[in-house]
Amino acid sequence: MSYVNVHDMLLAARSEKYAVGAFNIVDPMTAEAVVRAAEAKRAPVIIQTSVKTVKLYGCASLVATVKTLAEKATVPVALHLDHCKDLDLIRSCIEAGWSSVMIDASTFPFEDNVTMTEEVVNMARPYDVTVEGELGAIVGVEDDIHINEQESHLADPEQALEYVTRTEVDVFAPAIGTAHGVYKGEPTIAFDLLERVASQVKGAIAIHGGTGLSDEVFKRCISLGGAKINVSTQVKHSFRDSLSEYFQQNPQDYEPVKILAYMRDKTQEVIESFIDKFGSGGKI
Ligand SMILES: [Zn+2]
Repeated sequence: MSYVNVHDMLLAARSEKYAVGAFNIVDPMTAEAVVRAAEAKRAPVIIQTSVKTVKLYGCASLVATVKTLAEKATVPVALHLDHCKDLDLIRSCIEAGWSSVMIDASTFPFEDNVTMTEEVVNMARPYDVTVEGELGAIVGVEDDIHINEQESHLADPEQALEYVTRTEVDVFAPAIGTAHGVYKGEPTIAFDLLERVASQVKGAIAIHGGTGLSDEVFKRCISLGGAKINVSTQVKHSFRDSLSEYFQQNPQDYEPVKILAYMRDKTQEVIESFIDKFGSGGKI
């Protein structure tokens, strides 16, 4: 159908109270799994790339793969750069054709976060590229950004509106108690904080750390304004686990094409289950 602007996709989601899934890919097969899942469910979707994945394949190769898939797809597909604090890499992705980028300057003092986010917004505008920014610090490991429990902190609701107003960021990711990686026990989500932020910020709100959250948590986050939900760990685990599963079932098989297709199909199943939870199925 099309390779689209993330901002418009998310505003529609927020107003209709569903969330667009943003799934991290690691290679062309996982990208295809995301697009196939979205097509099967008739859902808009965001393909996310970590900095590590961009560095592995290079901007040109990765964007060509995703754009080719998106242009053939029968649903809207966007390409987003996840957590990045390297302004040069963000610029390279914008110039290469990403439709959305995230500047994660959340570990810097507030004023520096604002300045860096403003710089990325100015960089992105001429290309009609959506910009996501973060406030607070989300616990866990995402690429080269490691936040331990002592360093993590929730977004300051007083600063949220100031951050969004001053930076004019399109998508706001407040730290609300979700985490990257696998949850140790039941997470405590600050729904009151999300509600307060959503009452002030009328644009799109992103929820990070979707792996392992309950259906109930997803439902509440979406009803309070969450329009983009990130899922990385579960995609990666499913892709890897399906490889082990394949070898257990077919120990003598040395045909990589069959193995990769199996991994893609298993990953697609997992992505479809998240699309069901996010309510974005049937929206196209
Ligand atoms: Zn994240």
